[in-house]
Amino acid sequence: MSYPASSPQGVFDVAVIGAGAVGSATASALVRAGFRVVLLEASSDVGSGTSKANTAIWHTGFDAKPGTVEARLVARGYQLLAEHADEFNWPLERVGAVLVAWNADQLSRLDAIRASALAVGYSRIQTLTLDQVYAHEPHLGPGALGGLLVPDEGLLDPWTITLALATDAVRNGATLQTRAPVDAAVRRADTWSLSWPTGTTQARWVVNAAGLRSDTINRLLGFDGFSITPRRGQLIVFDKFARDLVQHIVLPVPTATTKGVLVSPTVYGNVLLGPTAEDLTDRTATQTTLDGLTGLLDHGARIMPALLETEVTATYAGLRAATEHSDYCYQVHADAHYVCAGGIRSTGISSCLAIAEDVVRQLAELGEVPAPLRDPVTTAMPNLAEARLRPYQDSAAIMRDPAYGALICLCERVSQGEVRDALSAAVPAVDLDGLRRRTRALTGRCQGFHCGASLQAMLSAAGHDVDE
Ligand SMILES: Cc1cc2nc3c(=O)[nH]c(=O)nc-3n(C[C@H](O)[C@H](O)[C@H](O)COP(=O)(O)OP(=O)(O)OC[C@H]3O[C@@H](n4cnc5c(N)ncnc54)[C@H](O)[C@@H]3O)c2cc1C
Repeated sequence: MSYPASSPQGVFDVAVIGAGAVGSATASALVRAGFRVVLLEASSDVGSGTSKANTAIWHTGFDAKPGTVEARLVARGYQLLAEHADEFNWPLERVGAVLVAWNADQLSRLDAIRASALAVGYSRIQTLTLDQVYAHEPHLGPGALGGLLVPDEGLLDPWTITLALATDAVRNGATLQTRAPVDAAVRRADTWSLSWPTGTTQARWVVNAAGLRSDTINRLLGFDGFSITPRRGQLIVFDKFARDLVQHIVLPVPTATTKGVLVSPTVYGNVLLGPTAEDLTDRTATQTTLDGLTGLLDHGARIMPALLETEVTATYAGLRAATEHSDYCYQVHADAHYVCAGGIRSTGISSCLAIAEDVVRQLAELGEVPAPLRDPVTTAMPNLAEARLRPYQDSAAIMRDPAYGALICLCERVSQGEVRDALSAAVPAVDLDGLRRRTRALTGRCQGFHCGASLQAMLSAAGHDVDE
């Protein structure tokens, strides 16, 4: 049989569709467990779907609905992210969250939120007096009535986590096939054939981690039971000068459909205000809108008026893979050799390692127990966190390699060495957006005005067409 150029050959044990946080984590766990894995990604880079545009909270799962798959997997995923943080060098900051009630109705719901947290196994939640609320967050606007402290909620770096897991999968033997938007699937003699416009591959098992398209893939594989309604979340990124205003993640009292608008620091040193929650039909509608941003500023004026006196660096939007169900659409179809990890809506960065662990466990229970990989390679990722040593601050690194001392992005202090590394990594950047997520270049105050042309030149020199 002859294959088109982009067809990974042979029969893999598992084909994972979608290289977001969930698919990359699953591919990594499967490869380490000894499976032959192909990771199929529609776009030209990993982590370019919802996993790149979210609120970047390291959720404990304290507010998950008791008894749901999501509650179990977020709590476990929280732990697993911490356990693997040193190995992969991804930053986690346990800053804690203050959940604030702004009216009598919200105040009356605090006890129920606390009871629900206890029911999902999170016991460190505390009731705060009004004085304590303001002591925790001195810049909070007037009018708060009470609150809760969730000391373990934290911040994560969704870009690095996803990239680390995809890199781990690839360096330990998975085949990554980008530009592979799977659009056909046939199962014959216990083997799935998956195709896309320029290629095809075969595998005994399929994992659907296609995010916003997970319902489409589910149907392609002969199943039904959920439909994705993209729920857009718009966010405003405030300048690094705003960082000192916010000590914790400032949460609202959640509603049935959304966790609500929060104010949160980021590991990159900025402050976020958002997200909105808008149900749409267009699965590509990641643009921000005047109404959305205006609404956020209204919320911000109430939550933390001083924040609005600082400068806005950027705005962005992500789409949650919401469904008609109030839980993940996570199911193993043993007879079909199919695992659906779809509809992972609001918490999937936090839970991705637990989903991956669970997939491996469930396959093992079905008798799929290859010999685990001996001596897996571990990749320590470049640090993007503001609170840790960055290459431009690391005199030993600069002595070894002066490229780490040559700044290319002055706003975010990204060096030529980091850009060079991102272009030659095991899962390299192939466009400006990929460079942004691997280095922080282009994300700062000037939004690439200073460094854009230099980055384009480095991309071109590395053989990539410039797409921005
Ligand atoms: C506004 C917002 C705020 C959020 N805040 C948080 C938060 O604070 N903390 C948290 O943990 N989570 C948060 N989330 C949720 C989190 O971002 C998602 O749950 C997570 O990114 C889902 O990962 P995924 O891998 O399932 O999907 P994605 O990252 O979307 O990955 C799916 C991949 O599948 C690919 N794909 C699609 N169709 C095909 C096909 N046919 N063939 C091949 N590939 C295909 C896509 O290109 C994409 O790369 C938030 C989400 C949003 C939108």
